[in-house]
Amino acid sequence: MIVAAILGVLTWTLLEYLIHRWMGHDRRFRKSPFGVEHVRHHIEGNYFAPTWKKLIAAALFAGMALGPALALGGMAGLGYVAGLVAAYGAYEILHRREHTHAGIGPYGRWARRHHFHHHFVDGRRNHGVTTPIWDVVFGTYERPSIIRVPAKLCMSWLRDPATGQIRSEHAMTYQLR
Ligand SMILES: [Zn+2]
Ligand SMILES: [Zn+2]
Repeated sequence: MIVAAILGVLTWTLLEYLIHRWMGHDRRFRKSPFGVEHVRHHIEGNYFAPTWKKLIAAALFAGMALGPALALGGMAGLGYVAGLVAAYGAYEILHRREHTHAGIGPYGRWARRHHFHHHFVDGRRNHGVTTPIWDVVFGTYERPSIIRVPAKLCMSWLRDPATGQIRSEHAMTYQLR
């Protein structure tokens, strides 16, 4: 069951990449529900699709996956779906916090730089949010250098409210444009 749960987590990281890259950034899927919400997330910066929409999508997906998973794998199938859903939840929390809070520790800082490189430097790169694995596998990984953030989209954690400039602790890695 634990092995199956780990496989579920890995499956989520792949889905996260594929959904973001294709549904979010391929012209053909621009009009899909995910595409529409994702374009708005990029344009507004602090916009996130409503939680109720995410809960419905997650419940529909888990509901459809659970039957076949139980039939094929029994408790292992249950572990697989549980791992997948838990990893999805962790992704949602991480992505939201990337926009709202400064990162804690090397991973928190890495995740923000990886994601804001995607937002502000090159939207064709760094589609993964929780891990760079699939960007490396599919050749879309780019190591961020200085990230130039448009002033009107700048995250509040990045900006010193007293000066309106990038906080000094981030000035080596982010700039305003
Ligand atoms: Zn995107
Ligand atoms: Zn984002």
